[in-house]
Amino acid sequence: MNSFYSYTISELEDLFINLGYKKFNASQVYDWVYKKLELDFSNMSNISKDLRTYLESNLSLDLPKIIVKEESSDSTIKYLFEFEDLSKVEGVLMHHPYGTSFCISSQVGCNMGCSFCASGLKKKTRNLEASEMVSMIMKAMLDANERISHIVIMGTGEPLDNYDNVIKFMKIINAPKGLEIGIRHITLSTCGLVPKIFDLAEENLGINLAISLHAPTNELRSTLMPINKAYKIEEIIEAVKYYFDKTGRRITFEYLLLEGINDSRLYADKLADLIKNLNAYVNLIPYNHVDEFSYKTSKNSNEFYDELKKRGINVTLRHKMGDDIDAACGQLRSKVK
Ligand code: SAH
Repeated sequence: MNSFYSYTISELEDLFINLGYKKFNASQVYDWVYKKLELDFSNMSNISKDLRTYLESNLSLDLPKIIVKEESSDSTIKYLFEFEDLSKVEGVLMHHPYGTSFCISSQVGCNMGCSFCASGLKKKTRNLEASEMVSMIMKAMLDANERISHIVIMGTGEPLDNYDNVIKFMKIINAPKGLEIGIRHITLSTCGLVPKIFDLAEENLGINLAISLHAPTNELRSTLMPINKAYKIEEIIEAVKYYFDKTGRRITFEYLLLEGINDSRLYADKLADLIKNLNAYVNLIPYNHVDEFSYKTSKNSNEFYDELKKRGINVTLRHKMGDDIDAACGQLRSKVK
């Protein structure tokens, strides 16, 4: 059975028109599911009995199971979801003064092999479907009994390595008649798949783009992130310039501070030189511990921050959330078999 969550509103309208129903029935059903969170077609009282019967026998509103749920002292909740084929992925719900965000995975496992990231310890077994990503949001909202206002595609997997599904997912959750998550409230983080950054610019969606840079030189970056052997920093810079020109959205460079590796003043200066004309942001990320790796959290983050500030770079230091339950950046991987 097809998942209801795989339909954009215009696809649902086409489906209903082809079946002889009305276009506005699509908005009605979207409203029940995404606004009222009603997951039983038979309760959709303003829908004809005939259409309800069709929906019940042809579209599924099933959600993944939550097999682990952990709540951190800062109220961050980490979920491990399980899909029908027993694939498992994590999602993290975070509370901020400005709303509730959900960090979503885009793949089951990850093939990018970044040397500091726990998610890459399990190789990719498959991409997540757009509908599966939508369904995790629905499940988390129902479980936590609150609406999600912001989405960060920063969980397990490389979203631009699952391009079509991720684009469709963003269109579904952005629809005003659906979950209505504002386009400016959606952030996609990539390790730098250059051709796909150009493609993303062409979509003209206006989402926030974050680039996991982590080093300002190719020499260093290639030792940390294998993807740098395929796409060099200069190519990433070209791609993000294009993205900015096309969409007007400012880019964020994520920079993980690893003690003794990339956290010296010299690297802060190199980073400032690299991006000074881009009108971009830098988000400094404290390294979160992963047992298998020997990296250490930098003690130099304030100096690094100050140096960038002094050089006129727009910089923020990321606030850690959920690290007591291994829900922080880079710690996601299912420990359950
Ligand atoms: N594949 C995408 C999205 C997933 S990673 C990407 O590379 O951007 C999300 C963010 O967490 C990235 O910036 C990643 O580099 C960072 N990260 C990975 N391991 C980390 C760790 N151990 N501590 C802190 N951040 C980490």
